[in-house]
Amino acid sequence: MTTRLDGRIALITGAGSGLGRQHALLFAALGARVVVNDLGGAVGGEGASTAAADTVVEEIRARGGEAVASHDSVTDIDGAGRMVARCIEAFGGLDIVVNNAGILRDRSFAKMTAEDFEAVVRVHLFGAFNVTHAAWPHMIERQYGRVILTTSAAGTNGNFGQVNYGAAKLGLVGMMNCLALEGARKNVHVNCISPAAITRMTESFDLGKLGDYMGPELVSPAVAWLASEDCAQSGLILTAIAGHYGNVRYVETPGVQFDPVVPVTPDMIAGAREQIEAMAGAKPVRPGPLGDIVDHLKAIARL
Ligand code: NAD
Repeated sequence: MTTRLDGRIALITGAGSGLGRQHALLFAALGARVVVNDLGGAVGGEGASTAAADTVVEEIRARGGEAVASHDSVTDIDGAGRMVARCIEAFGGLDIVVNNAGILRDRSFAKMTAEDFEAVVRVHLFGAFNVTHAAWPHMIERQYGRVILTTSAAGTNGNFGQVNYGAAKLGLVGMMNCLALEGARKNVHVNCISPAAITRMTESFDLGKLGDYMGPELVSPAVAWLASEDCAQSGLILTAIAGHYGNVRYVETPGVQFDPVVPVTPDMIAGAREQIEAMAGAKPVRPGPLGDIVDHLKAIARL
C-alpha cells in the first residue's frame, strides 16, 4: 500500500511554521493541492504578517507542488469562510482540513488572566470550530472529508501552567468525538493528532538529548495518513512524538452497579472506590451519552 494524496485539496491552518509547515510540505509532496493558511503572528498570538504563509507557498512551488496562501485568522468566522472559498476558487473543492493553528500563553493558574484563557481558547477551539464549520457542508454534500484536529498531551495528560491550553485542547477531543458520529454516514472522518515536536512553540523547553529526536517531520506522516482516503478510522487520538506513534483512548472500568431503586450513600461510593477504579476488564467507552449502562442494568435484571 502506498499512501498518496493525489488530487486531494487540503486546507492547513497555521501552516506558515513548525508542524503546519511540515504537514504542508509533505501533503504537497504526496500530490495534494494545499491552501497554506497562516496569520503570521508571534507564539503568543500578537501581530500578523503575510510572509509566513507566502514563504511556505514558495517552498512548495519550488519543489514542483501546488499551493496558494491564505492570511486570515482562524478566530475570524468570516475569515474561515474566505479560507474555504479560497480552496474552491483555486482548486475546485475541499477534501481535507488540518486544524493546526495555535498560540501559547503559559502561566500558572493563579497568574493566568481571563484574557490569557480566552485568547488561547479562541484560537484553538473556536478557530477549529470556525474553519471546520465552514468546510463541513462541502464535505457532507460531496460525501467525502478528512478533518484533523490538533490536540495535545497538555489536555489529555495535563501540564503545569497550561490550564487555558489544556482546556482548549481537550475541548477539541470532545469536538472530535461528536463530529465523528455526525460525519460517519457521509464518509467524513474526524481524528485528532496529539503531537510533540521542537518548533518555535517548544524551543525554549530544555529537553536535553530528547530534543534531538523531536523533529516536526516525524509528526507529519501520521497526519498525512489520517488525511488519506485509506484511513477508515474516525474518532482516534493518534500520538506522534520522536518516532513513536500510539493511541490515547478513553476507557471505562467495569465499576460497580448498585441497584438503582435502593438509595446510594456517599459511604457506599467510598467503600466501592477500589472496584470503581480497578482497571481489570476496562474497555474503550462506547460512543454516545449512555455508555454501557443498559448492559450494567441488564446484568442485575433491572432491564
Ligand atoms: P508554531 O508556533 O510553529 O505554529 C503555529 C502556527 O499557527 C504559527 O505559524 C502561527 O502564525 C499560526 N497561527 C497562530 N494563530 C493563528 C490564527 N489565529 N490564525 C491562523 N494562524 C495562526 O507551533 P507548532 O508547535 O508548530 O504548533 C502547531 C500546532 O501543534 C498547535 O496547535 C500546537 O498547539 C500543537 N501542538 C504542538 C506541540 C509541540 O510540541 N510543538 C505539542 C502539542 C500540540
